[in-house]
Amino acid sequence: MSDDRLGNALHEYWGYDSFRPLQEAAMRAVLAGRDSLVVLPTGGGKSLCYQAPAVCLDGTAIVVSPLISLMKDQVDALQACGIPAAFLNSTLTADEKWQVKSDLVEGRLKLLYVAPEGLSLAGLVDVLEDVNVSFFAIDEAHCVSMWGHDFRPHYRELSVLRDRFPNLGVHAYTATATQRVRDDIVTQLKLNRPETLVGSFDRPNLTYRVAPRSDLTRQVTEVLDRHPNESGIVYCITRKDVDALHAELSALGYKSAPYHAGMSDQQRQANQDAFIEDRVHTIVATIAFGMGINKPNVRCVVHAGMPKSLENYQQESGRAGRDGLEAECCLIHSGQDLRTWEFLISKQPEEGQQVALRSLQRMADYCAGVTCRHRQLVRHFGQDLDADCQTACDVCLSDLDLVDDALVVAQKILSSVYRQGERFGAGYTARVVTGSTEARIVENRHDELSTHGILEHEPRSAVMAWISQLVSQGFMEKSGEYSVLKITPRGWRLLKGECQPKLLRAERRSKSSRSTGKAAKGEAASWKGVDRDLFEILRELRMEYASQRGVPPYIVFGDASLRDMARLKPTTIEEFQTVYGVGTKKCAEFGDEFVRAIVRYLSSAPEVTGE
Ligand code: ADP
Repeated sequence: MSDDRLGNALHEYWGYDSFRPLQEAAMRAVLAGRDSLVVLPTGGGKSLCYQAPAVCLDGTAIVVSPLISLMKDQVDALQACGIPAAFLNSTLTADEKWQVKSDLVEGRLKLLYVAPEGLSLAGLVDVLEDVNVSFFAIDEAHCVSMWGHDFRPHYRELSVLRDRFPNLGVHAYTATATQRVRDDIVTQLKLNRPETLVGSFDRPNLTYRVAPRSDLTRQVTEVLDRHPNESGIVYCITRKDVDALHAELSALGYKSAPYHAGMSDQQRQANQDAFIEDRVHTIVATIAFGMGINKPNVRCVVHAGMPKSLENYQQESGRAGRDGLEAECCLIHSGQDLRTWEFLISKQPEEGQQVALRSLQRMADYCAGVTCRHRQLVRHFGQDLDADCQTACDVCLSDLDLVDDALVVAQKILSSVYRQGERFGAGYTARVVTGSTEARIVENRHDELSTHGILEHEPRSAVMAWISQLVSQGFMEKSGEYSVLKITPRGWRLLKGECQPKLLRAERRSKSSRSTGKAAKGEAASWKGVDRDLFEILRELRMEYASQRGVPPYIVFGDASLRDMARLKPTTIEEFQTVYGVGTKKCAEFGDEFVRAIVRYLSSAPEVTGE
């Protein structure tokens, strides 16, 4: 049963016709005045879970948010939809703060965003005693937990809300999946028998791909070329890698900008702004980039190196496609990444090393994995899928060519490792089995081994990749400073034919024709009927409005709205109102101008329809 108030608000202010999974239940918990804990993945639509009820209820909802940049973004977006909202934080002048407080006390705001430190320091809690507060929403609630990835001590003080306002609902929202963090949120915020809603962690609109590194720049540009003029993030492990890749991409004519902790704050901010405002399409960054970025129309996230854990990967790749439209996440990795992380972990305090190494191994397993990537990811977070994604990962798209006789190939490699006395690394082993006669091999008389040249028809790079896969599937391990290969007990069972490895044909995976073809089909769905020329014209118009107002383009209209306009081609205001994401305020504000642009376009261009 739907609550009309909520559905109407959704339609009138946001121009949306339906709820995302669990949104309605989450909103109803707010209307019912009970506490709640809502766990939805990035892009799941958490903000609306409290924004829509805030519009429906009397009084002001107080939203605690950890990131100043996100507050401004959210408030800009709400105001653009015609919802009175404000934020209080250190970026405001004394006059501006005074104005916000007076708006608050006089009941002119539907939502007020505050930082947790602001809540206690400025005596705001006392002020709130005299305000008609509708409820409290705690965004990014995992910040309250030491077990989360972003602990903020000030969040601990939020338990004061439950004590001071026993009759108001306190609602916690997070994308963090672990049970331990969830339990901690409930305890720390003193939530009272909260309605707990946990969504699926799957992101069906993302297409995941994994590829071993061969020619990095070409591999990255292949992905970027699938998303011309659109936003993408390329993550590198080190600052040096960021600078190098950015230089190469720029030289090739890509509109890219770098971002890492070695740059000045000013430079970083300027590059981030250029990316958010669509003046730069590709940001090449270390993982320093991303927190506090709410950009919904990132169409691809490329990892130019393997992240250190699946939690990191989920979070970073999750920045793609927040608007629900198709987006692509491509992970390009090599054995070198594993060694880099192992080295970095060895420099960490000893007590955390084992956990970090286990996380790293899970990440490496994902790279070498041969089950549906969506399934692998949700399983890591303790869930499962009813069925494989079928069309949204390299495994299901059959981009991966599995080696038919993987057991025999693996046995050949392991036999060679054994015959070499388990004293050599991957590169050496690959050279032996592919029949190299270089001096070192001859000196060691390994050219006389029965395994010398046993895989001579295979490219050495493929053998290197298989060795990594055998390591990540636990048949061998790399030991010591020189990463010498040793056979594990599981590897001995493999030699006896008691277990089956899976090996990927590395070099054929990059033949992109099949994958691009199929992915394009998924993409075609949301581009179906869209006139791309008109889309570009509307995009320009959106850009003009955004720069006039000093807001990012997506605050004016999201990509999904622009596509819908370029599909429906409304020529009257009434028709314009039916476009996805067009609420009453945006229709009044932008409708005339967009309709005029469409009419102008239609009268000057022959009708061209996209696929
Ligand atoms: P989260 O905070 O969970 O990462 P957001 O609240 O930022 O997600 O929402 C992601 C995007 O989805 C936003 O652009 C938002 O406007 C949009 N969105 C949310 N709910 C709906 C809905 N019911 N229908 C259509 N779009 C929605």
